[in-house]
Amino acid sequence: MASQQFTKYLFDSPSVLSGEEPELKRSDFTFEKKLGEGAFGQVWIVCHKVSKAIYALKQVPKEKVLKMLSQFKREVYIMYNLNHPHIIKLYNHFEDEKYFYLIMECSDGGNLFHRLQKQRQFIEVEAAQYFREIVLAVEYLHSHVPAIIHRDIKPENILLDSQNRVKLTDFGWSNYYSKEELEPRKTVCGTLEYLPPEMIEEKDHNTSVDIWCLGVLLYEMLVGFTPFKSQSKRNLLVNIARNKPKFPLSFPPLARDLICRMLSKNPNDRPSITEVKEDRWLKELPALKETTSQMLSPIPLPQYHESIPVEFKCYKVISEVVKEEPTSKKEEKNPKNNRSPSGSESDDLDLSYSSDGSEKNSDVLSNEFLDDIVCKESIKQMKDIIEERKTVIRVQKSTIGDIDKNLKEANEEHEKLEGRVKEKNDELLALQSKERQLINQIADIDVQMQTCQHNVEDSELIEKIHTYQKLLIEKSSETSIYLKKREGIKEKLRDVERLLNEKEIEFSRANTQLLEAKKDLKGSNRNMQMQFTDLTLNADILKSRIDNFDHFCKALDPDEFAVARDIQNFIRDKKNEIPELKEREILSKIQAREEIITKIEQEIIEQKIEHEDKKSELFQQYRKKKEDTINNCKLLNEKMSIEIQDQVNLERENLTKKLKMAREEEHMYPTSQEDIENMKKKLQYLKNIKTQTVSKISRMRESRFEAKEKIRNINKSIEDSLDELNTLKISYMMKIEGFE
Ligand code: ADP
Ligand code: MG
Repeated sequence: MASQQFTKYLFDSPSVLSGEEPELKRSDFTFEKKLGEGAFGQVWIVCHKVSKAIYALKQVPKEKVLKMLSQFKREVYIMYNLNHPHIIKLYNHFEDEKYFYLIMECSDGGNLFHRLQKQRQFIEVEAAQYFREIVLAVEYLHSHVPAIIHRDIKPENILLDSQNRVKLTDFGWSNYYSKEELEPRKTVCGTLEYLPPEMIEEKDHNTSVDIWCLGVLLYEMLVGFTPFKSQSKRNLLVNIARNKPKFPLSFPPLARDLICRMLSKNPNDRPSITEVKEDRWLKELPALKETTSQMLSPIPLPQYHESIPVEFKCYKVISEVVKEEPTSKKEEKNPKNNRSPSGSESDDLDLSYSSDGSEKNSDVLSNEFLDDIVCKESIKQMKDIIEERKTVIRVQKSTIGDIDKNLKEANEEHEKLEGRVKEKNDELLALQSKERQLINQIADIDVQMQTCQHNVEDSELIEKIHTYQKLLIEKSSETSIYLKKREGIKEKLRDVERLLNEKEIEFSRANTQLLEAKKDLKGSNRNMQMQFTDLTLNADILKSRIDNFDHFCKALDPDEFAVARDIQNFIRDKKNEIPELKEREILSKIQAREEIITKIEQEIIEQKIEHEDKKSELFQQYRKKKEDTINNCKLLNEKMSIEIQDQVNLERENLTKKLKMAREEEHMYPTSQEDIENMKKKLQYLKNIKTQTVSKISRMRESRFEAKEKIRNINKSIEDSLDELNTLKISYMMKIEGFE
C-alpha cells in the first residue's frame, strides 16, 4: 500500500475503525452524473466498481471547509448517527489530498426546490404529504437527547426518492442543542429567505428555528414564493424581523393558522414539532400515501467530542463483496450480509447444495454394495420421486407461464395506465392552455369594454368641446389684455388728476401769496399816503410858519429883513425842491407797483384760464378714451360671442345633419339618449360574458384539480397493482424454489 502523503483531518470511517474493510479511494468509484451542487460541494451519482452498487458521493474541497473543520466533522458525525426513512443515510467517508468524500444513500427523484420550480406551487394534499414526511424527519432530530437542530431546512435540502418520498439532507449547519455552544449562523449560503428573526437579531436560538423554517417552507409550497419576499435584501430582513406574512384570499384557513403560529416572531410562541405533527390541518387532509412508520432510535446520542467517535448507528461496508474471505468467517464477522443477498451469493448457495448432494449419492452407492435389492428399490423410489417432482415442475412451469402471462397482462395494463396517465397529463396541458386562452379572452374583453366606454363618451364631440374651450381661453386672454390696457389708461388718468390737483393746490397757494402781496401793497400805499398827508401837513405848518415869519419880517430892520429874506428864499427853495420830488417819486412808485399788481393779477387770471382749458381738455380726452375702451371691449365681446355662437350653431347643425343622416341610413338610433342606452346594454352584455368566462375558468380549475386528483388515484392504483404483482412474483418464485 502506497504511503499516505497528505494530512488526514477526519476520523476513520466506522467500517475502517472496526477493521471490516480498508479505507476507500476515489478510484474505487466511477462518477456517473452530477446530482447537484451546494455551497460546499458537488454531489455525484457514483457506482462502486466492484459491487456495482450505486451511491451519492458528496465531494467537498478541503480548502473550503478547513476553516470550519469542527462544523464539518460534526456534520459527518451527526449523519453517521441518523437512521430514519426520511433522512439521507451516510454510509462511509474517506479523504484524499484535495477533497473529503461522503458516500451517501442516493435519492434520485430530484429535490423540492426543482419540483417547486416546475409546478410553481403544490396543491394542498400534495404539500401536506411532503410536509408530513419532513415533519417526521425533524421530529426524529428534535427528539434525540441532546436534540439536533438542522438549521438549514429549505427546499434545496429536501430530496425526493423514486417513490416521491421525502429525504432530508445537508447537515452542514446542524448542531446539538446546548445553549453554551451554539453560535449564530453568520455565513449565510444560498437564500436568506429562510432566516429566522432571532438569527437576524443575533439572539440565542433553539429547536424552534427549525419550526420557523418549516413555516416558511409550508408557505412557499402552497403559495409559490416565500412569505417575506422583497426586492431588496434589507427589506427582506426587515420583513422577517417585524412584519406579518400576507396570505392570498383563497388560502386554506387551517394551513394559514398553522403557518402563522410557526412564524411567530417570538420563538417561545412557536409550536413544538410534535404539536405541528398533530395539527388539525395535517390531520384533516387525506394522505396520498401512508406515512412510513417512524424509526426512532431509543438510544440517546453520545455528546459529540473532538475525540474519535466510538459508536455509530448507521454505516455500511462498501467493499464487502470484494473481500475473498471464507463464507463462514465473513458471516461471523459481518452478520449484516444476510440482509442483502446478491445474485452471486445465491449461485454459491446452489453450488454447495449440489456438491452436498453428490456426497450423499456416494453414500447411497456404498449402501448398494451392501444390499442390492434394497438399493434398487430405493432407486426406484427415488426415480418415482423424481418423476413426481418433474410433473410438479411441469405444473409449476405452466403456472409460471400463467404468471408470465399475468405479468404480461399486468405490464400491458400498466402500460395502458401509463397511457391513461399520459392522456390525463395531455388533458391537463390542454386545460392549462385553454385556461391561458380564456385569460387572454378576458383581457381582450377588457380591452373591448374600455373601447366601448370610449365610444359612449363620443370622442368627436369631446374634441370639439375641447377646441371651443381653447377658443374661449384664447378670447378671454385677449379680453384680459384689453382689461389690462384699460387699467393702464385708468392709471394714467389717475396720474393726470393727481397732477391737476397738485397744480390747483399750487395755484391756490400762489393766490393766497398774491392776496398777501396785495394786502402788503395796500398797507404800504396807506403808509405812503399817511406819509404824504404828514408831509403836506408839515408843508402847511411850514407855510403858516413862513407866513408868520413874513409878519415877523415885516417887523424887522431892512438888514435883518434881507437876511431873513435870504433865509426865507433858501427855505422856499428847499421846500419847493423836497415835496415835489418826493411826491412824484412816491406816486410813480405807487403807480409802478399798481401796474405790477395788475400785471400779476392778469397773469394769474390768464394762467387760471389756461389751466381751466387744459383741465377741461384733459377731462375730455380721458372721457373719450374711456368711452373708446368701453366701446372696444363691448364690440370685442359681442364679436366673440357672435363668433362662438356661430361656430356652436354650425357644429350643432353639422351634428344634427349627421344624426339625421345616421337616422336615415340606419333607422336604428332614434335619439342620442337611446344610443347611450344601447351602449350601456352592450357593456352589460360584455360584463355578463366576462363573469361567465370567469366562472367557466374557475370550473375548469376545479376540473383540473379533479383531473390531478384522478391522476394521483391512478398512480396509486398503479403502485398498488405493482405491489400486488411483486408479491405474486415473490410467492411464485418461493414456490418454484421450494420445488427445486
Ligand atoms: P451543500 O452542503 O453544499 O449545500 P448539499 O448536501 O445540500 O450540499 O447537496 C447539494 C445538492 O446536491 C442538493 O441540493 C441536492 O440536489 C443534491 N444532493 C445532495 N445529496 C444528495 C443525495 N444523497 N442524493 C441525491 N442528490 C443529492
Ligand atoms: Mg444544501
